[in-house]
Order: sequence, then structure tokens, then C-alpha cells
Amino acid sequence: MRVWKYCRQAHLDDGLPMITAQKEMLDTYIAKHGYVLAGETVALENGTQRDRNSIKEIIRQAENKSYDILLISHLDRLMRDTIPCMELCRELLEMGIRIIPVKSGMEFTMKMIEPYSFIKEAQKNRYKHHAPRSVACGVCGKNPMTVQGCRIGMVYVNGQLYPRIPFHGDPGERCYDCNALSGHFHHWGCDDEICPVCGGQLIGCDCEGVECPTGK
Ligand SMILES: [Zn+2]
Ligand SMILES: [Zn+2]
Ligand SMILES: [Zn+2]
Repeated sequence: MRVWKYCRQAHLDDGLPMITAQKEMLDTYIAKHGYVLAGETVALENGTQRDRNSIKEIIRQAENKSYDILLISHLDRLMRDTIPCMELCRELLEMGIRIIPVKSGMEFTMKMIEPYSFIKEAQKNRYKHHAPRSVACGVCGKNPMTVQGCRIGMVYVNGQLYPRIPFHGDPGERCYDCNALSGHFHHWGCDDEICPVCGGQLIGCDCEGVECPTGK
């Protein structure tokens, strides 16, 4: 298996400490699994825009079949916002590239993108607006009025861990119930959060054992 390493940090910060840490993490993973290094992309840039040379490079190398696995520390290294990041991952997966975010310890597969197709359907059924709550989130402990969204990105459903589906509104829009900013995770118990398994309302669907792992 040939891997391509991708490391990114947004700004020079007394050198490249984040990139150094990411490289070490990825090198350890490569050595442990006996993979072959096909190449690497090191980007010193903000992860908001899709139109970046580093992203073009990993796509071009994928098209050239230069590697089999894209290795990153965390998906947010590719793109900071979840929904455009899912779109990029989908393109890579469709080209036959495997994606391994090393920190999560879990290969990222097409199955993990499926829930995002629920978003459009759920938007049609959104409830009437009311003032967002200002009590601390039961999972991240933050007052929703003071943060962009919930810090915890995974949820247990039917005993299995799934990525949570972030709030997807217009740019800059906040969730009417939990005040999460578009692209960020809802706070626990939000009326608007979608179940990643059935696509229903997470607090009201028929799935069993819906539980949120609390933060580290
Ligand atoms: Zn929260
Ligand atoms: Zn919400
Ligand atoms: Zn469900």
C-alpha cells in the first residue's frame, strides 16, 4: 500500500510545530503498518477554501494513481468545514483512494458520508424558530451562546460510534435551537440534529442506545 501524507497548519507559529507533530504521527503510523511512502504535501495555509494548490496536488496525484491511501492526522487538515470536507472526501473515495485520519483510528469510508444526504430532507421539515437555549450543553459543557458549536463530533447509535451530522444552514446562520453555527455540531439534545443512522430527528427517532461519548 502506497500512502500520501498530507499535513497542514494555518499560520507560521514559531516555526511549524503542528506540521512537525502531524508528520511524526503519520510516520509512526506508516512504520507500524509497513506502508510505502509515495509522497507528501505540506501546506502552510488556511483550510477554509477548497481552491488551494495542496488540494489540487492530492487530487492530481490520485488521478495519476500515485498512491492508494491518503494519510492525515484529522479530516479538518484537508478542509476546516465539515460539509465541503465531505465533498472532497467523496471525490477521493470515488477515485478509489482510501482515507485514514490517524487520530480517530478509524478509516473514513463512503458509509460515513451517507448521513449527509439526510440533511436536505431534514431541512424541509425544520421546526419553527424559537429563541436558542442558553443553558450549558450536557456533552461539551459550554454555553451555546459563547461557542461556535459542540466539540464532540461522535455519537453512539445502536451501540456503534458514528460521526455526528453538523448543522447545515446558510453561511453564518445559527441553529434556531442550539445556536450552533452552520458547519458545526449541534449541542446535545438539539431539536434539529439528524440521526446519522436513520435520518430522523436524533432526539425522537426509533434507533436504540443514542448516547454521546463525553469529551476527553
Ligand atoms: Zn455541546
Ligand atoms: Zn442545533
Ligand atoms: Zn435514528
